[in-house]
Amino acid sequence: MSDSDSIAAVATPPGEGAIGIVRVSGDRCGYLTTRLFQRSGRDRTIESHRLHYGYIVDPNTGERVDEVLLALMRAPRTYTREDVLEIQCHSGKAVLERILGLVLDSGVRPAEPGEFTKRAFLNGRLDLARAEAVIDVVKAQTREALAVSSNQLQGVLSEKLEFLRVHLADLKARVEVAIDFPEDDVEILAPEEAILVLEGTVLPQLVRLMESFEAGRLLREGIKVVIAGRPNVGKSSLLNALLQQNRAIVTPYPGTTRDSVEEVISLSGIPMRIIDTAGLRETDDEIERVSLETTKDRIQRADLALFVVDYSENLMPEDQSVFQQIQGKPSILVANKQDIWKGASLDPLKWVFQGHRIVPVSALERTGLDELKKAMVEEFVRPGLEPGSQIMLTRFRHKEALEQCSKHVVEAAANLKQGGGLDMLAADIGWALKALDMLTGETTPEEVLDRIFSQFCIGK
Ligand code: GDP
Repeated sequence: MSDSDSIAAVATPPGEGAIGIVRVSGDRCGYLTTRLFQRSGRDRTIESHRLHYGYIVDPNTGERVDEVLLALMRAPRTYTREDVLEIQCHSGKAVLERILGLVLDSGVRPAEPGEFTKRAFLNGRLDLARAEAVIDVVKAQTREALAVSSNQLQGVLSEKLEFLRVHLADLKARVEVAIDFPEDDVEILAPEEAILVLEGTVLPQLVRLMESFEAGRLLREGIKVVIAGRPNVGKSSLLNALLQQNRAIVTPYPGTTRDSVEEVISLSGIPMRIIDTAGLRETDDEIERVSLETTKDRIQRADLALFVVDYSENLMPEDQSVFQQIQGKPSILVANKQDIWKGASLDPLKWVFQGHRIVPVSALERTGLDELKKAMVEEFVRPGLEPGSQIMLTRFRHKEALEQCSKHVVEAAANLKQGGGLDMLAADIGWALKALDMLTGETTPEEVLDRIFSQFCIGK
């Protein structure tokens, strides 16, 4: 099937609701409007980019299927830059299926996930960084995450990249002129000048963007937090205490495994995805061993471990073995049941768990939780890189491309300093530009595009 065929999908989430939308993109939109829509009143004209009230009618039987609002948007001022049709009907399984069915019976095929946005990209409405931001806006879990992706969607990141591209392309053009017309009276490009552009203008911008990646990634993906500890130290109580104070209104993340519970809370705008683990202890029993393996696995995958001990009791060998598991992970030692041991010195704990931050709490009486939350954020957020404080890179793909780009910029400057010729300089800058183009989608391979757009939901 060619890419210019018409596609359709239900664009609203499944389930009963006030309004459901069937969305179509492609040449068939005008035809569908004539065929399926009956405008109420005497005026039958359909204007582009206007809502019209009327009915979807089954063309075979004349039956009115639903009362709708319809918008026909003619290219090119549309999301996909093609003709787009949106039918707002009642939202219910049968209604939406019926209307989509009538559309599909009229020479339109079902859209693949992200295909509307893919068309917007292929037709030049969005570059790749902005298309990716569409996913992030939809998936943003906190206000701060939304602000970053919304900026990216509005092209703030793209503008930065364009700034870099223009500087590099301009430099490359001047180098090429100098190569092609060596004897002519063309102003010779002084190596110092080229170095100034590379090291003074381009590189600092690249570095700043790359540095923002960690904070950006945290905002987009959230921090995976595991609560670890032997049985009965108060892990579930701690989870409940944290949730009760600060539950984010979110749906579970996809990819959450069936045997673990993952809850999301927002701390300083950073989504913390807390994974609940079964009690962790060494055992010979096969079943428990399996569950232990998954717990270990979860600890491995987590970004942060909250290591809970019951400080009203002596530390046990089991505590020690949990401690072994979290070695090498950013972790915070939570000394629980403070209501019982209040007044006792933390020194013995400090001595055993040297180098770890220790936060006393009582999950039962809900004390110490603010300190714990503050500590959790501080493990990740460096001053000056607070989420939402600037343009941020949110994807590994972007970071990789910029790393490639800066590698070639650094090489270009180094080669110049060692007296390398203009040919070498042109090649280095060419590679740097290629890396940027990968990011914006100008030269991104098809399989990378497919992978990006398949993360979307159908209808987006
Ligand atoms: P888990 O097995 O680690 O998840 O531990 P639970 O959360 O189920 O708690 C085990 C027991 O310790 C329960 O009886 C809790 O009520 C109790 N507990 C948990 N936190 C505290 C606390 O801060 N103070 C006191 N006194 N008891 C607690």
